[in-house]
Amino acid sequence: MIVILFIVILQMQGLGDKGKVYDSDKGKETNVTFQDVAGLEEEKTELIEIVEFLKKPKKFHEMGAKIPKGILLCGKPGTGKTLIAKAIAGEAGVPFISMSGSEFIEMFAGLGASRVRKLFEKAKKISPCIIFIDEIDAIGSRRTNASGAESENNQTLNQLLVEMDGFETNETIIVLAATNRPEMLDKALLRPGRFDRQIVIAAPDAKGREEILKIHAENKKIEPNVDLKEIALDTAGFTGAELANVLNEAAITATINKHTAITKTDIEDAVKKVTVGLEKHSRVISEKDKKLTAYHEAGHAIVSKFLETQLDVKEVSIIPRGVAGGYTMYKTNEDKYYVSKTEMKEKLVALLGGRAAEQVALNDISTGASNDIEVATEIAKDMVTKYGMSDKVGPINLEVKDKYEIQPLGENIDELVGQEVKVLIDTAYSKAQEILINNMDKLHAVSERLLEKEIISAEEFETFFK
Ligand code: ADP
Ligand code: ZN
Repeated sequence: MIVILFIVILQMQGLGDKGKVYDSDKGKETNVTFQDVAGLEEEKTELIEIVEFLKKPKKFHEMGAKIPKGILLCGKPGTGKTLIAKAIAGEAGVPFISMSGSEFIEMFAGLGASRVRKLFEKAKKISPCIIFIDEIDAIGSRRTNASGAESENNQTLNQLLVEMDGFETNETIIVLAATNRPEMLDKALLRPGRFDRQIVIAAPDAKGREEILKIHAENKKIEPNVDLKEIALDTAGFTGAELANVLNEAAITATINKHTAITKTDIEDAVKKVTVGLEKHSRVISEKDKKLTAYHEAGHAIVSKFLETQLDVKEVSIIPRGVAGGYTMYKTNEDKYYVSKTEMKEKLVALLGGRAAEQVALNDISTGASNDIEVATEIAKDMVTKYGMSDKVGPINLEVKDKYEIQPLGENIDELVGQEVKVLIDTAYSKAQEILINNMDKLHAVSERLLEKEIISAEEFETFFK
């Protein structure tokens, strides 16, 4: 009885799956186009070649051009990864078939792999087409030797690898996959011929948010005095999905309150509603946090400006990215083989510039500097234990110690390392504070501009020093 029951369940599971994976026999035609995707201009430009390829594959083949088979879209949920994948299909007029990695997590043995196989079989039949795999990290995280659910994952992933290698570029199938954690993915997935191109879909900046709001306002009745730009400025950190949600919530509130059109207050209430929802996920950005982030990032940027060896600032932002509340981006330099001691010491100063700014301008310090501190400590430790840059320790690699059980400097070596690391860090922190105290006016000015605009470009940053 149990065996029969098991088989029945297994079959039901299998049948249920089919409906989910295959939207229809021919795959879904989407009527989404690039016009429906606001912002993301560079990303769209990059993806136009894929659209062209899907439309006229022959041209590309005749030229001998190879188009990537797999493209990884990286970004947090709600930033429009699915939307842009659908838009590619819509622009090219090809079917869109999709599956989500998370569907595989609680599946019977072997089903995951067979589902992947069927998906690709179908794609080959209806090609040219787009396959979209959402949450690929659920099946594509690093392979382990574990059993049970883990090994089921391995089977699914192996099947995906086999399929990616199996279809020829002349089959005109593009596989797009989405993830928020590209670093978790099995390296095998990222090899040439598989997902060898990555496109980062970042949370929108103020201008992007305004455009997204405009798109979602199109089919709604909104009072003419509502300024979407203003709302965009008040919604730092919101994703496209959250912005769409704000306008929808506002429309609901307006209907319930029997307004003739959506008012500014309806939208402000909706923002609050969505923000409180966000607060639970600790993603709300209060005015206080924004100010702290602004000073912190301005600190990094200004300190770097006064350090000979550090790269020029490319962009300063208080729009959250990943786990960071803001970021300071530097211009890249030509590849270098060696890093000098001066450079490393100055790097420490730049890293601690964020914390130093919090201290000197706000007279309080926060957890926002934790990553900077981690990186700085690691660099300082390497300087002492690996690169022989501490006078007291000398040019000795202390990592060799454990391996060969040499104790080159006696038993107090750990204490000495600790002291040397502390001296490096303390010196760097004092230096960062000194620079900022001498440039207090600039620190305030840059922070205030950041609060106002969220992003400052390299050119604008330079104007503060003229
Ligand atoms: P993801 O796949 O990154 O989790 P989705 O593509 O599913 O995000 O986005 C969810 C919804 O949010 C979309 O259907 C759309 O309504 C809205 N949205 C997200 N990004 C944008 C954007 N750039 N332009 C317009 N709408 C967007
Ligand atoms: Zn920092």
